[in-house]
Amino acid sequence: MRAQALAWAGATIGLVPTMGALHAGHRSLIDRARQQNTKVVVSIFVNPIQFGPNEDLSRYPRPIEADLEMLRSADVDAIYIPRVEDMYPVGATTRVVVGGVAEPLEGAARPGHFQGVATVVTKLFWAVKPDRAYFGQKDAQQAAVVQRLAADLDSGVEVVVCPTVREADGLAVSSRNAYLDPQERLAAVSLSRALRAASDAYGGGERDPARLRQSMLDVLAAEPLATVDYAEVVDPGNFSSPGTLALLAVRIGKTRLIDNHDLVQPYPG
Ligand code: AMP
Repeated sequence: MRAQALAWAGATIGLVPTMGALHAGHRSLIDRARQQNTKVVVSIFVNPIQFGPNEDLSRYPRPIEADLEMLRSADVDAIYIPRVEDMYPVGATTRVVVGGVAEPLEGAARPGHFQGVATVVTKLFWAVKPDRAYFGQKDAQQAAVVQRLAADLDSGVEVVVCPTVREADGLAVSSRNAYLDPQERLAAVSLSRALRAASDAYGGGERDPARLRQSMLDVLAAEPLATVDYAEVVDPGNFSSPGTLALLAVRIGKTRLIDNHDLVQPYPG
């Protein structure tokens, strides 16, 4: 990958890091990268070190043929699919730790997760040497962690954050939606309904963080299949309260889903 990147001297390179099981959200990142760069690289790597011991690493979907088919139609210049043993050979012990923004919420709920993300993103930056890297607002805290590390490590990479792509009923598109059975799929719309409720409250003048939070909890409490991991309204700069970014992590059955919406923006749709 590094040799190919060097051979593209003079090109601008856009990198779209993914874990595969590609969908319309990934496609929106690729299309944006295509508009802004002369070369586009998509990486597919289910990064083991960002999964906790009781998480879904072994059952994470890996539909490689369908992914390659999608990428053929997306006009990308390289697909980088490193093997786990090449990314983390025996003896590789270096880890990248981001402070501050990586600590609350997902950082607290999934210990080690952002260290795994930061480490793999740093390695991808070294391999691909992109001018720009594309991340989804769907994973808002991840995007903030990557922005922090890109700046702190003097990477020179511009981190571009793209809007969340949603299904017609509002559910944020996600590879993990494949885990949902039909009943759970219906229940999963409660996340976007909760965000909309907070957005409506904010639009109606509500500024009390506790009441904004409660407006989300009320919607989620009405859904028997939903268990709330967290529902917070935080500052999008540092991910601590108070603020305007409504963030949710909710289990629907055994599937943990996340979503968010900045209440300052009009709710889409
Ligand atoms: P993943 O393969 O789930 O690790 O996601 C790869 C990238 O796609 C991340 O930057 C995600 O934030 C982004 N992404 C995932 N779902 C969506 C979505 N529904 N809309 C926009 N971007 C997304």
